[in-house]
Amino acid sequence: MSNIAAAIITIGDELLIGQTIDTNSAWIAKHLNELGIDVLRRVAVGDNREAIIKALDEEIARASIVLITGGLGPTADDITKPLLCDYFGGKMIVDQQVLDHVKAMMAKRNRPFLERNLKQAEVPDVCTVLFNKMGSAPGMWFEVPQSKTGGERKVVIAMPGVPFEMISIMQDEVLPRLRTQFFSDALLHRTLVTAGEGESVIAEKIMDLENALPAHIKLAYLPDAGMVRLRLTGRGKDSDLLTKELETHQLELAQRLGNIVVAHDDHSMEKIIGDLLLAKGKTIGLAESCTGGFIGHLITQISGSSTYFNGSIVSYSNEVKQNVLGVNKETIESYGAVSEQTVTEMAKGALRVLDVDYALAVSGVLGPAGGTDRVPVGTVWMAVADKDNVKTKEFRFFYGRLQNKEMAAKMGMMMVYKVISEKL
Ligand code: ATP
Ligand code: MG
Repeated sequence: MSNIAAAIITIGDELLIGQTIDTNSAWIAKHLNELGIDVLRRVAVGDNREAIIKALDEEIARASIVLITGGLGPTADDITKPLLCDYFGGKMIVDQQVLDHVKAMMAKRNRPFLERNLKQAEVPDVCTVLFNKMGSAPGMWFEVPQSKTGGERKVVIAMPGVPFEMISIMQDEVLPRLRTQFFSDALLHRTLVTAGEGESVIAEKIMDLENALPAHIKLAYLPDAGMVRLRLTGRGKDSDLLTKELETHQLELAQRLGNIVVAHDDHSMEKIIGDLLLAKGKTIGLAESCTGGFIGHLITQISGSSTYFNGSIVSYSNEVKQNVLGVNKETIESYGAVSEQTVTEMAKGALRVLDVDYALAVSGVLGPAGGTDRVPVGTVWMAVADKDNVKTKEFRFFYGRLQNKEMAAKMGMMMVYKVISEKL
């Protein structure tokens, strides 16, 4: 498998002072990786001419594809566009399509068209314009003169810093071009999602299968809160043949891993649960204490979730646990709000009040305050009830408040998955 090297340069003073978190390079790196392009370095520089030129020189020297975000706008601190124009020896010209687009955007927002806006439609005459349907500043694709690269093809791609604009240009313009221009072969992925085992245990189980993979098929382990995705990436001339090969290896891995496999497509746990509920024609509801509605948020990220999701009762206070869910006052007094007994009654209450087939209840201490000797910070009790049974489980998380909340939500969904799929 050929390895094409890329580098990412993010531009902006706000990145260096920590005001903006650089999510752009993470997104770009992830999507280049899926294409089979290796990101060698990610560099952040300020809105500073010398720093940007130095970063360009250095990254062009080591990578074939250099992607830049930020500093393309019309304000004085946005220096990337004229700088790139100089760097590639071009001059600024007005691009008619971009001009029409900027004018239409201004008209739609009832804003006057200013001299400054004309600048937004200017592009170096030495680039391919990458149309930005989500904003005014277009992306730009430059070919580095091969006299400077020793005959090797190298490109520099500049995009605006606004994340959703960058993403739209990457998806519509950049990724398809990279795919067709830098690879003659087909590139295909197949993913298996596993739950409940760590990476190292999985690696042990499939070692021989992994070692026996042909050179054009690679396996990646992508771990995430209680789940590990196994992604097979194949490259080949004949995409039908490659599809068959990938499916064969995917099946082999799935058979070896048995019931820890929860999906044969790259889906999130909320999607997996949704599909399972749809297939069974069942409904779910939640009683959330420490997760504060977060599990409900995740479940409703899936379009069509109204078919199987009735609702979440955010029963944060003891009064709501008692008055809405019908938890006994004595239960909370004797065992505490974070206890097996309380979550059991919460789940039964949610089952009844929300009129669902399955209910998940979650109650815990996320920290940093509120822990006791008996119930230390990070303790989370969960219960999943259906009309016949209640399954309970205690978890102990050791992270900060937010991560504990996220882990609780993911583990809660995992527990739901196991009950619905009858693996618990
Ligand atoms: P515009 O045309 O909107 O001015 P621009 O190319 O000039 O776009 P910037 O001014 O650098 O972009 O940044 C615009 C917005 O995008 C800012 O809110 C900034 O915080 C955000 N942003 C910039 N770079 C990144 C990044 N690497 N990751 C996440 N957000 C970013
Ligand atoms: Mg700007």
